[in-house]
Amino acid sequence: MGKHSIFATPALAAAMAPADAGEVVVEKDQPGQPHKGKVFAAVHAHLDDVPHYAGGLCAKLLREGYTGYIIRTSNDEKCGGQTTATNILSNEQEHLKMAAALGFRDVFDFYYQNHEMDGISALDIRGRLIFLFRLLKVDTVLSFNPWGHGEENPDHWVTGRAVEEACWMCGMPNDFHEHREAGIQPHPVLERYYFYGRPGQPFNRVVDISSHLEKKIDAIVECKSQGGGNLGSQLRARLARERRRLTLLGNDDRTADREYVRQFLLDDDREYGKPHNLAYAERFYYLDQRRPAKSKVDDYVEKNAVSL
Ligand SMILES: [Zn+2]
Repeated sequence: MGKHSIFATPALAAAMAPADAGEVVVEKDQPGQPHKGKVFAAVHAHLDDVPHYAGGLCAKLLREGYTGYIIRTSNDEKCGGQTTATNILSNEQEHLKMAAALGFRDVFDFYYQNHEMDGISALDIRGRLIFLFRLLKVDTVLSFNPWGHGEENPDHWVTGRAVEEACWMCGMPNDFHEHREAGIQPHPVLERYYFYGRPGQPFNRVVDISSHLEKKIDAIVECKSQGGGNLGSQLRARLARERRRLTLLGNDDRTADREYVRQFLLDDDREYGKPHNLAYAERFYYLDQRRPAKSKVDDYVEKNAVSL
């Protein structure tokens, strides 16, 4: 059992962890900036994916010293309730505001056609991700589980698979070798956090986001074209027309939106926290492919090599 384990016995851990996901580890706040110098990329398909699935983890990693970049793969043209062109614009503008609310260093949009990403070239999106992971020297990614159970949205699994493929290939010098001619070196991505996107997906990490909740709410309220960010102010306006009000929603739109999110849109985060006595938590399938400084071969050579 790892030292961070929350379970009394390995058997109990096995009982609570989904098959093949390994032991569930609770990741809590770390003091100082232990991740200073490291870079993560959050790769999602739609404006509201990262804020809802991983807004708390993003805020935590940034507070603990990571530099963060966010990549949106679709153009979100189907969501926003307006014409296609207007939807693309509103989602693009809100994506910038949402990223600023969480504290990302920069924002990238790939603009693949929304809901139709299963028709795009797998090689094209993989190549674009490899370029960015190398350029930005990404150490860690956050994205969809590439083999996610119950995933009905092709934009999600297409993005997840491309991310998984790009993570190891961007460390291979002969893949897109022309990047080196441009001074962009191979750089493998060794840590991954896959979202818990649908019920039944595997997870082996529960991140305590309790102290980052206000940042997560800051991000969600910027998601107005989709993601429920303006439902509070809409409800407040409707009630006013009916000459009613809710104390919960306060006296201005900003408060209404924030408190609506807190009251109605964070049920999952509260549920995920409960088994671990946390107020709010997010779930992930975490993979760590960092190798020990000394390999088992090095170790064997050191112990057994004799002089000629
Ligand atoms: Zn989505």
